[in-house]
Amino acid sequence: MPDAADLAAADARHVIHGFSPFGDRTPGPIFQSGRGITLTDVEGQDWLDACAGQANVALGYGRTDIADVIADALKELTFGTHFYQRRSHVGASRLAERLAQITPPGLDQFVYMLGGSDAVETAIKIARFSNAAAGRPEKMHIIGRWNSYHGVTYAGSSMTGDPAMWRNIGPRLEGFSHIDQPETDSVGAARLLEDEILRVGADRVAAFMAEPISTPNGIVVPPADYWAQIREICDRYDILLISDEVLTGFGRSGKMFAVENWDLRPDILTMSKAITAGFFPLAVVAISGELREKLSASNDPFVHGVTAGGHPAACAAALATLDIYEREDVLANSNVAGKYLSTKLDALADTYPVLDKSSVRGIGMMHAVDLIADVDPAYGAALHAEFLNQRVFVRTYRANQTIGLLPSLTMTTEDIDAVTARMAAALEATSSQAGN
Ligand code: PMP
Repeated sequence: MPDAADLAAADARHVIHGFSPFGDRTPGPIFQSGRGITLTDVEGQDWLDACAGQANVALGYGRTDIADVIADALKELTFGTHFYQRRSHVGASRLAERLAQITPPGLDQFVYMLGGSDAVETAIKIARFSNAAAGRPEKMHIIGRWNSYHGVTYAGSSMTGDPAMWRNIGPRLEGFSHIDQPETDSVGAARLLEDEILRVGADRVAAFMAEPISTPNGIVVPPADYWAQIREICDRYDILLISDEVLTGFGRSGKMFAVENWDLRPDILTMSKAITAGFFPLAVVAISGELREKLSASNDPFVHGVTAGGHPAACAAALATLDIYEREDVLANSNVAGKYLSTKLDALADTYPVLDKSSVRGIGMMHAVDLIADVDPAYGAALHAEFLNQRVFVRTYRANQTIGLLPSLTMTTEDIDAVTARMAAALEATSSQAGN
């Protein structure tokens, strides 16, 4: 066992933790190993991860079969690139072919990147390039949605519908604006897009980018006909539809891609996270053959690519992950276990009146519940702190008023019981602060 105190001190001295103030050196758990949904820290304590890492550890921790495939791939080919000199490598070719079989129809042209943020960056550049190629360089504006998340690069944060992401880093990039997300009124919500297109000018708007189901907005599944209306509006004004499936891709919503829940055909789809089940960084941007044709109108090169994008080890990890999805029917488990998780959230809401039972919602393996409207605003933060005290990782959204769970898709009934038992312990321990 490593010296826990030494590690904590080294971390406090040197590690800058993202999404925290620079001055924050508060110690947190330092993890050494993980199996299933259980993480073990350097003090030997177990933690339950109901967020699958960053919603990427789709098959749980500790799958040595994937680790072995990665090790073999690295022994075979240390590195391979797919830009400059028309080079490629075995894994990149195989994975592209495999992805083409599972991506929504028509989306079978792929760019390899490293992570979600640079996938978003790539999607935006491609959308804009398509208009440059069409001889309309003024059609570059991108519309997104408030309460969205699209990453930390400059375009990704400008695209993200959260002003906290734009502060303290100089001017936000030009050419981005946001509309509200749908709650229940799909007609009104879709009209917001049309209004924004007309405000900016259809001849200036290149694309609309959105997560099919947005986690920062509190995992609200959009009304059934929202996406069909959005598609129709995008078509009418000749605007590309970009689905950011970095989080929802590969089974999170119970379908391989969340757009399948509405038969939605985006023009560009970003994916990352679960594509390698968290074992290796990889992102892929899929575009339609039709869009590639339009891009081909320009003879200018697409000056884009990152050194380690589509690394042979990442492609091998993705292929092994997709094999497991098929062999172990991971999507079926995502749906069955997700329903059980939902009933457990209902049961928690029956016991703890601070949870709003009518708000329990979700799809596949993404679920949420809100705190009741009149709870003390400070309670959400206290509850979140208590979840950590009980060593269970869940997410909070909307200023701690929404609790979200994004567990591994392979979670078992026993895992769900264990997670909800710790959530109950936290709710119990904080009940005197709930003020009701
Ligand atoms: N888009 C979406 C929808 C995401 O959920 C995320 C990550 N949470 C990103 C982009 C950025 O991905 P990454 O953290 O890999 O850069």
